[in-house]
Amino acid sequence: MPEVKTRDFFPASRVSILDPQLRLALSRVGSGFDSARRERIEEVSPEVWEEWREEARSIKVHTLDNLDYYLELLHDNVTKAGGHVHFAKDAAEANAIVAHIAEANQVRIVTKGKSMVSEELALNDVLEDMGVEVYETDLGEYIIQLAKETPSHLVAPALHKSKDQVAQLLSDHLGVPYTDDIETMARIAREALRDKFLSADMGISGANFLVAETGTLVIITNEGNGRLCTSAPRIHVGITGMEKVIPSLQDLAVFLRLLPRSATGQRLTSYVTMVTGPRRTLDEDGPEQFHLVIVDNGRSKMLADPQLREALYCIRCGACLNICPVYQKVGGHAYGWVYPGPIGAIVSPMLVGLKQAKDLPQASSLCGACREVCPVKINLPRMLLQLRQKLAESPEPEEKAATFSHKMLAKAYAALMGHPKLLSLSRKLGRIAQKPMQSNGRIGQIGRSSLPGISGWTRSRDLPSLPVKSFHQIWQQGLRQPPNTPAGQSRDTGN
Ligand code: SF4
Repeated sequence: MPEVKTRDFFPASRVSILDPQLRLALSRVGSGFDSARRERIEEVSPEVWEEWREEARSIKVHTLDNLDYYLELLHDNVTKAGGHVHFAKDAAEANAIVAHIAEANQVRIVTKGKSMVSEELALNDVLEDMGVEVYETDLGEYIIQLAKETPSHLVAPALHKSKDQVAQLLSDHLGVPYTDDIETMARIAREALRDKFLSADMGISGANFLVAETGTLVIITNEGNGRLCTSAPRIHVGITGMEKVIPSLQDLAVFLRLLPRSATGQRLTSYVTMVTGPRRTLDEDGPEQFHLVIVDNGRSKMLADPQLREALYCIRCGACLNICPVYQKVGGHAYGWVYPGPIGAIVSPMLVGLKQAKDLPQASSLCGACREVCPVKINLPRMLLQLRQKLAESPEPEEKAATFSHKMLAKAYAALMGHPKLLSLSRKLGRIAQKPMQSNGRIGQIGRSSLPGISGWTRSRDLPSLPVKSFHQIWQQGLRQPPNTPAGQSRDTGN
């Protein structure tokens, strides 16, 4: 597994927030990807979009309820088509399977398409330790491989890099003159990779979907690299999580409508590659061997948890990242592991352990935007709350997110809300007590000092001061009167 830095979420976020280049890069996720997504929804109409989402969700619910059946069907159909299926229970087993295939076939050069699961397993490191040359061929992945970094977005791995930084990387690593012309940079990368495509012995790809009824691996991409990785080398290894299986090609059609529109706002990506087994006798090209590695690595644990299994419906479109106010401020690297954003805040604690990633479920304002945009209607805020509850109730001291003071505050709040007279009295006292700390309708400081106990909150957020009148008082004074009564009119003028 790659280094897990999820414990550093808060310090890493503080650094990210102060990075002006990252701020600029992140501003594009909302204005670019999300705007395009909304345009596509308007095009098909929100009603039709809703029907598609419902359909996709019901396919996922059905498939994961019957996962053993569909995995077996997939296995049988891949085998019938001449491929080999390997099930890996964890990262070590998955890496060992791929390493064995490489060793047995004297593989020297590997070209790779985009695969988040291979990031999860740190597969490149394992192959490189064996002396195998590994080349990422998706342009974004190639850039971060040169920079020795990890992806910062599910769909756009090098989103955090500026044009100048990419130009410098290409110049430093490939010995070409510096240019920041995007078309020239793309041509330079293409030329550097062309040789690798031609000399690779093994191609490794991820999978967006695995179709059980036909044994087909499906890749959706905008670059031709996926096709070259899966067809040019003599061996193709597809590696993916076990939740990627869907029952039929008819079901695939539903996801092909939703995924590109949700991810990049495209009606369809430039390439939809479907691989069923190795090359056949009459085929002009294609690999001699096809291996499919289906990875568990903690997914069974998620599947067994009735509250959190919904996270396995994810089709990695990235729409929840693009809309998330936290992701938009801190970017992907602050999350400290492979999966960022709202879905990462759920998946990472499940896969690396709650103890390691206890701060991630707190990385949400619970505004619900992620749920609204999710093409499979995953209830992300509910799961974030459930993880918070698990942390609060955990008997493990290291997992606990709630401190003693949090608990005392929650108890005091519950007592106050349960006793109206006490609430009314505390409001009156609060209005008097807040006066020295009030400024522009907010509570913040006493003189130049932050407020003890709530400085963590007020450092980055507004704490509104108590209003002159409570809602109850406004209600008593006439809000409950019909609007055409004098009291109702006084409500309007009072506002
Ligand atoms: S949780 Fe939903 S919106 Fe987020 S990446 Fe997964 S499918 Fe897309």
